[in-house]
Amino acid sequence: MPHISFVALSGIRVREAELASLGMSLPGLQSRLAAISALPPLGLLTLAGMTPDHWTMSLHEARSANDDLVHQIVGERPTLVAISALTASILEAYQLASHLRSNDIRVVLGGLHVTAAPDEASLHADAIVVGEGEPVWLELLSDAERGALRPRYKASGAFDLAQAPLPRLDLLGPSTRPRLTMQATRGCPLACDFCAASRLLGPFRCKPALRIREELAAIAKIDPSACIELADDNTFALGGPHDDLLDALGDSGLKWFTEADWRVGENPHVLRRLADSGCVQVLVGIESLVHQHGGMGIKRTSITRIMDAIESIQSTGVIVIGCYIVGSEGETHESIDRLSAFLENDPCADVQLTLQTPFPGTALRQKLQSQGRLLPDRDWSHHTLFDVTHQPSHMSPAELQSAFTSLIARTFAPQASRRRQSKRRHIWRGNSSLTL
Ligand code: SF4
Repeated sequence: MPHISFVALSGIRVREAELASLGMSLPGLQSRLAAISALPPLGLLTLAGMTPDHWTMSLHEARSANDDLVHQIVGERPTLVAISALTASILEAYQLASHLRSNDIRVVLGGLHVTAAPDEASLHADAIVVGEGEPVWLELLSDAERGALRPRYKASGAFDLAQAPLPRLDLLGPSTRPRLTMQATRGCPLACDFCAASRLLGPFRCKPALRIREELAAIAKIDPSACIELADDNTFALGGPHDDLLDALGDSGLKWFTEADWRVGENPHVLRRLADSGCVQVLVGIESLVHQHGGMGIKRTSITRIMDAIESIQSTGVIVIGCYIVGSEGETHESIDRLSAFLENDPCADVQLTLQTPFPGTALRQKLQSQGRLLPDRDWSHHTLFDVTHQPSHMSPAELQSAFTSLIARTFAPQASRRRQSKRRHIWRGNSSLTL
């Protein structure tokens, strides 16, 4: 019987020492990073869901590619190892692949980084998947069984989400997770210049409600009190009422969380139904407060309008995590100080701060590369969202790193975290689907 070992190199990575220790010590930040780190590897679980029954399989979620992991996988004597990694962990994935291949084990790599940098990735694996995995998965497995893997698999068209398999959540084992994941939409019709996720996996598509209902039922069976994180880039991007999705989520009785751009706060139909359908949080990219981010595309507007939209979302009993990117064009010490002061009274009940990061496959990276502004000593392992990887326009890299670290320390200081926590409680008291 052929065996496949799925490997997700998961967890948040931070290279800069002071920031890494802050992440472990500030409760507001620590809990947020822990929640992100514990998200199940939905892409691999989905491929597992379409793997034919005669294959046996195992899942390894690893924070690092250490000797123990290599030993465990080699011990399974797999026909194939499928590794998924983000840019910050891709060098570890390459190293792991090298160890496994030296033990005569075949390795396939896939994911966003591999899709954006296929020539690089193909140097480290027997096969790579460029783009979506589902359309090529059965062919790839069949080739692996015959010992005839091709070096590269790439779908000729976008995957029809009506054919989406049920992810094998059972592979996660009995441990409880703060959140389980489900995808309701794929891609994003917007085109922010720093975003690769929205472009690399094909056009924006919605999963049919019937498939969503089946997935929700499977999740509820595993954990009836699960909170679901929709693994979407921008759930309500197309506007409109979204009744089918909200009906399915509401009927499931599960709580859920998603990402959307601020315009959902101006969609009265969705706002009316959000809380009743079980929504408890929406993550909204505000990007940059002090100067309008050049890469925000059609969601670019005044900060007043964005904050009004956020107040509208929160007035329904759903909290907003406001996401800010630090270090984009024009950022200075003064602008970071102004952001810090703004965040002391900002309406968002939670906040996420990251550094501008030129990921492969983005227009931002192309621009900075053409201007000679990618720092040559920062390899992929620095692309963590918390480490400076480019030459900022008005600061030195060291100044930006230091100002970002101070901003994190102030924003997630105990008193500030307590203020946001009390705001969350206040907002959730108005959520009809929650009992506090
Ligand atoms: S709105 Fe969000 S998901 Fe869409 S392109 Fe911009 S950053 Fe990416």
